[in-house]
Amino acid sequence: MDAVLRAELAELEAVRRYRRRRVSAPQAPSSPTHVTVDGTPCLAFCSNDYLGLSGHAQIRQAFVAAAERYGVGSGASHLVSGHSPAHHELEEALAEFIGRPRALVFSTGYMANLGIASALVSRGDRVLEDRLNHASLLDAGLASGAEFARYAHLDTAALERRLASTGSARRTLVWTDTVFSMDGDVAPLESLAAITARHGAWLAVDDAHGIGVLGATGRGSLEAQAVSNDAVPIYMATFGKALGTFGACVAGSEALIEMLIQRARTYIYTTALPPAVAAATRAALRVVQEESWRREHLCSLIARFRAGAAQLGLTLAPSATAIQPLLLGAEADALNVSAALLAQRIWVTAIRPPTVPVGSSRLRITLSAAHTPSDVDRLLSALETIGCGSNKPITR
Ligand SMILES: *Cc1c(COP(=O)(O)O)cnc(C)c1O
Repeated sequence: MDAVLRAELAELEAVRRYRRRRVSAPQAPSSPTHVTVDGTPCLAFCSNDYLGLSGHAQIRQAFVAAAERYGVGSGASHLVSGHSPAHHELEEALAEFIGRPRALVFSTGYMANLGIASALVSRGDRVLEDRLNHASLLDAGLASGAEFARYAHLDTAALERRLASTGSARRTLVWTDTVFSMDGDVAPLESLAAITARHGAWLAVDDAHGIGVLGATGRGSLEAQAVSNDAVPIYMATFGKALGTFGACVAGSEALIEMLIQRARTYIYTTALPPAVAAATRAALRVVQEESWRREHLCSLIARFRAGAAQLGLTLAPSATAIQPLLLGAEADALNVSAALLAQRIWVTAIRPPTVPVGSSRLRITLSAAHTPSDVDRLLSALETIGCGSNKPITR
């Protein structure tokens, strides 16, 4: 076995797609952008902690207090004995925050997406997804057993053509990221809602990069695009990004949530989140609402980065979110620019295929409310020193 695997690993190395982890930790929990990377102090621009909440004092305290009360492990799945008051209270707070009758907590976003598909579609149904959806939506669609197709990125006309072509599908699920995780651009929710309604399809959205960070009160992409909750019957969001904790939820109607409890295999057959993580997430929802300055500060950093990068002649992606990719193309180029930044103690991981399409390797720069304007300036001047000559526009 090892000889076979070593040969495969050598092939990955040869095409510069070998992945290596670095050991990193915040230098202090209250400043999550200042990290050590394999022991070296660095300024990080690659985490999804968009609001800088992962080490927030109130959220940490909620976590510790709940661990003191409930212990660490939940002990079982939700349907056996793992559903604690901390989980239940979080679900109620989520339903109220998101503005839906019910919410259901899953242990991860990946599992929430697999759960949606396993509960709602199977052989004889159809799943249509944006080509650049997160891997968990694509995997979920493929694993569901339903007929599965991808439409061109953000191409509502292509989606509508597929919906119009008469198939024999019992039901059709249309599924999209709200904010695309490697590109930072956003799905046109109003038109997707209108198209799916017109064709009697069910619309599901993954708001992993929207909840907490988008919309005037942090309620996510629907608030940001002024789309009513009724227009999008299946809403999913994760806690590991802007909320700074861990886990995920699906929010929607009473019937949707009850069906997920009956049929979502990744809900039924897995251990419930540690209750302390649920309590911390509930505290994070409060901070998201109370500290709106974090969203405002982040917006000003995004504007500062884009203006500075344009001045340097860098080609930016069409993104107004905290995800600001710098497209480089070849795997080696992305690795080289990432290494040159690290030499200047700035950490941005290179993103390569199969995470992104072949030929679109990039630096996925992410900004956080924990950054200062001078942090952004430091990144810009490092990029200037390195000279990203091979930086190109994103073309589709
Ligand atoms: C991160 C992410 C997920 C997975 O969430 P986890 O809780 O990390 O498993 C799902 N969808 C999207 C769009 C993501 O970016």
